[in-house]
Amino acid sequence: MPVAGSQIVKLLPGKRPCKDCGFPTCFAFAMKLASGGTTVDKCPYLSEETKAKLVDLLAPPMKLVTIGSGENAVQIGNEEVVYRHEKTYVHPPGIALLISDKESETEIEEKIKKINELQFSWVGLTLEPDLLALYFQSGDKDKFIALVKKVYESTDRGMVLISEDIEALFSARDICADRNPLIYPITKENVEQAIPRIKEKPTPIGIRGESVEGLVPLTTKLKDAGIEDVVLDPGSKNLMEAMRDQTFIRKATLKQGFRPLGYPTIAFPCFIAKDGLKEIMAASAFINKFAGVIVLSDFDQYSLLPTLIQRLNIYTDPRFPMGVEEKYYEVLEPDEYSPVLVTSNWALTYFLVSSAVEATKIPAYVCVKDAEGLGVLTAWAAGKFGGDSVGAAIKKCGIADRVKHRKLIIPGKAARIKGELEDALNLEWEIIVGPKETTALGKFLPEFAKSLRK
Ligand code: SF4
Repeated sequence: MPVAGSQIVKLLPGKRPCKDCGFPTCFAFAMKLASGGTTVDKCPYLSEETKAKLVDLLAPPMKLVTIGSGENAVQIGNEEVVYRHEKTYVHPPGIALLISDKESETEIEEKIKKINELQFSWVGLTLEPDLLALYFQSGDKDKFIALVKKVYESTDRGMVLISEDIEALFSARDICADRNPLIYPITKENVEQAIPRIKEKPTPIGIRGESVEGLVPLTTKLKDAGIEDVVLDPGSKNLMEAMRDQTFIRKATLKQGFRPLGYPTIAFPCFIAKDGLKEIMAASAFINKFAGVIVLSDFDQYSLLPTLIQRLNIYTDPRFPMGVEEKYYEVLEPDEYSPVLVTSNWALTYFLVSSAVEATKIPAYVCVKDAEGLGVLTAWAAGKFGGDSVGAAIKKCGIADRVKHRKLIIPGKAARIKGELEDALNLEWEIIVGPKETTALGKFLPEFAKSLRK
């Protein structure tokens, strides 16, 4: 819930426009603060107490929390809207794979291999899981510590450390503190004992309440102690409760501006679902309904891929179709006699065309024209895939320097741009109208590629 300038101005000194902040009046300064265009310290007449109040008032309603470090760091939270169609969700949930210290060496090795190697190329992006959640379940502290050490040495991925034994939890944290692990659970029973230990080596912490209401005194106590990298678990016992709790937390934070719940959440399909399929379905619900970290007991490529695609789709800005960069792309290893195709930059269109070309095993160049993420026919109808603009893109991308021939295949659905495109390219290129559907490239491309080498 954005803060209004009128709320802020009440806290300002209201001196006759002294303009020391660089704005003509206190109200102008307040409006700029509300929009994030300046900072509190620009007014020299604020008491420390007022400054703190203003900083608190202006803080994003939901905290941004980072788990892990370096290129494998996962950022969660800092969301601004309850419903995706209002704007966009910005920080996709981290998908974590659970390893219990009760699992065998072979199972542990396999799971580490999965987190290190399981990834998918999708519309030009790499989709992969993010975190390992290490679970102290055996009752043998040495075993848990050995697991944490093994994972620490075998992967750079971020970690979630799960232990009801607080000594084991902080011993594990000490091994991998430089990787910024999330430590869980901090509860009302252990919070007093935990606070000094957290402050020794600050890393994000996961707090568990017996209910949403039970989280409030915990976050308040932690905030008073200066600890704000917090992730919430309302302790939901089943999926229905979890959906209710996640929704309550999100709405209280973003619609009511209730700061004590203004943190991302963690969800455990691994503990609340009864079998693998239900677990993946629960993960899907948590992607839609606001979880910041989702912990799964296991996955394979068949269950993980749809989960990651769903996450991508939900966290893609609904106002802008996904597009790829305007340039030429090499499919397989094309040379100077390879075919050149042109298409629009909707990610799905590019993915379909390049996959269809790859399936023919004919190396080729696919030139992509920026059409603001629209498919070919829609882009043409919207005036974003006309002969002039496609011609300009072909000239700009430099494909003429890569091939000796001058034959350019346009999509069959954009056949009408042929004449205009020839003119735009100064009649230097022969424009070939390709198939209307990418599926027909399998028949069309091999024959055409042969003709280029005659
Ligand atoms: Fe008001 Fe402070 Fe700006 Fe002076 S410096 S105009 S008191 S906000």
